Amino acid sequence: MKCSTCQGKAAIEIRRHNAAFCGPCFLGHLERQIQRAIESERMLAPAERVLVAVSGGKDSLCLWEVLRRLGYETTGLHLDLGIDGYSPEGRKKTEAYAEAHELPLQVIEVKQETGFTIPELGERTRRPPCSGCGLSKRYLMNRATLAGGFPVLATGHNLDDVAAILFGNVLHWQTEQLSRMTPVRPATHAKLAKTVKPLIRVTEREAVAYCLLRGVDYHEDECPNAAGATLLLYKDVINQIEAVSPGSKQAFYQEFVKKVQPHLAAGETVTLRECDVCGQVTTGEVCAYCRMMERARQTTVRRGRVTRTVLEVPPA
Ligand code: SF4
Ligand SMILES: [Zn+2]
Ligand SMILES: [Zn+2]
Repeated sequence: MKCSTCQGKAAIEIRRHNAAFCGPCFLGHLERQIQRAIESERMLAPAERVLVAVSGGKDSLCLWEVLRRLGYETTGLHLDLGIDGYSPEGRKKTEAYAEAHELPLQVIEVKQETGFTIPELGERTRRPPCSGCGLSKRYLMNRATLAGGFPVLATGHNLDDVAAILFGNVLHWQTEQLSRMTPVRPATHAKLAKTVKPLIRVTEREAVAYCLLRGVDYHEDECPNAAGATLLLYKDVINQIEAVSPGSKQAFYQEFVKKVQPHLAAGETVTLRECDVCGQVTTGEVCAYCRMMERARQTTVRRGRVTRTVLEVPPA
């Protein structure tokens, strides 16, 4: 198999592009894919200041490396989730990357911010850990982006992620979530940061290959809470389709964004306002994060059992 660019010996085949690349040409190809996504979706202005969400895994470190090489002024943002056997390694890899490239890094410890680690939050709210984790991440990242005066937050969601999320939302016809599924979420309110997903044209396999070829040392383990998650099942199903019909994964997501999402968004009327408790953006009086934290605080844990504390409310 020959490299589609230089005709040398190919090291990686990308069937959806009907192409194969040697190592150096693959690096250029992947960086161009990201640059094209950034330009066509107007994610970032040239050399813009960007806050990059970095977990220490392959996707986020691939993103940070490419943005750094493309000349953007990047600062890393790492959330230490406090998950035993997983979080310390991700933080270590993130800090090592920042130090090696002399890049600024902001680390937020969820336990210090909220009083609870992500597993403790799940236990106290009796919700799956991923539910509290996703909500906490969105909230804390949005707040950090605004507090740091960054015009935009970049996350490492890749093509496999967005296609699987889309699949799940279609399967259950979650029209509200579908209407928000765009590679760029604009800042439609003073308390809402613009977020972008520059890896929407890059698969997990390609992010791994990029990190290996560039010598980027990433955290290889998956979060223990991801095991058995429905998102992994959706990824598997989509990969089976992709294996017999290359290009389906990318077309599924890109065509949705182009042809369907605008119609769904046009039918949505959401009024944003500031949360009565924390002042962050919400659609109701109190935001979902504050409601979750209040529920966690009202719960006491005794001898491994979770008990709801009933608050005495005086009669009206
Ligand atoms: S798998 Fe769940 S708990 Fe783990 S990092 Fe992802 S959202 Fe958080
Ligand atoms: Zn080549
Ligand atoms: Zn709030």
